[in-house]
Amino acid sequence: MTDISDVRAALARIVDPGTGEDIVAADIVRALTVEDGAVRFVLEIDPARADEMEAVRAEAEAAITALPGITAVSAVLTAHSTPAPNLGQRQERRAPSGPVALPDVDRIVAVASGKGGVGKSTVAANLAVALAAEGKRVGLLDADVYGPSQPRMMGMKDARPGSTGDGQTIVPLQAHGVTLMSIGFMLEEGTAVVWRGPMLMSAITQMLGQVAWGALDVLIVDLPPGTGDVQLTLAQRAELSGAIIVSTPQDIALIDARKAVDMFAKTATPVLGIIENMSGFICPKCGHEVEIFGKGGAEADAARMGVPFLGRIPLDLEIRLSGDGGTPIAAQPDRPQATAFRDAARRLLEAGLI
Ligand code: ADP
Repeated sequence: MTDISDVRAALARIVDPGTGEDIVAADIVRALTVEDGAVRFVLEIDPARADEMEAVRAEAEAAITALPGITAVSAVLTAHSTPAPNLGQRQERRAPSGPVALPDVDRIVAVASGKGGVGKSTVAANLAVALAAEGKRVGLLDADVYGPSQPRMMGMKDARPGSTGDGQTIVPLQAHGVTLMSIGFMLEEGTAVVWRGPMLMSAITQMLGQVAWGALDVLIVDLPPGTGDVQLTLAQRAELSGAIIVSTPQDIALIDARKAVDMFAKTATPVLGIIENMSGFICPKCGHEVEIFGKGGAEADAARMGVPFLGRIPLDLEIRLSGDGGTPIAAQPDRPQATAFRDAARRLLEAGLI
């Protein structure tokens, strides 16, 4: 059976044509893992050589795929590490490039979507709160660099996390029974940041490894929308145990949701299920249901892809108002709209997925 040393030996036969050196000797192979025939690694490169190195990456991936007993290979390019941006005292540190180990956290589960605006953050916040209501110890990490919305949704937009006396560890916030950290807390409100790969990785690494998460049954990660390299690298850096995909029932959104399923397949991350959000609109006046974006598309797609279907969340004014007002509807159990999120949380628990 192929083991890690065989994989390393195969990688040592791949030469970077730019330097003439093999990629193992050049010390650019990072986070190499071999688990049940699935190989993952990262090639840390100079972003200026990304096109050239893509060919090297593809060659390395093909070489490993050809080894006996290998069932899946995920090789990803990342920009080499540089010091973090203006993020406080920790900025002098170089970001380690392998996955960040969180020994007290049982599971890390990403909430992802193929495109923005489908309600990924709403689902992440409500699932976190609903799982906490079921007695689980839950953390919520908002890694949506393009629009961190958890400080607002969890009612913490004017708060800031603390730090320990030695300034080495970030003390997260507590909101609605959930331990919370957001990349939004590291930015001035209203400032636009263009994240370069290494900056992003430093910030994410800090939020995973330098936050006093405490013992958690599950850490929910609200990923940025989309299926690009950022999402892929995040998925690898956080060593996910699974991913939940949020989609609306529209065909267009479902095409993107399928891309998200494929992205996680590349990193050998199990997709725990799909949630259909904005599924049918219930008129607050008469209670009549209107299928604005259609209904049921995600369930049919989940069945086709062999992925569990976790439930349907209606398009409902109360869900928006409560999220935008800082108290997710799942934290208000007497409201009928809380039921859909609580059911999805129970389904995950009953299936042993969380
Ligand atoms: P994403 O994270 O996918 O960009 P958000 O969770 O930020 O999406 O949702 C976008 C907007 O839609 C927010 O204003 C949110 O309150 C609203 N929204 C999300 N889901 C629902 C829903 N089921 N019913 C009503 N409004 C919703």
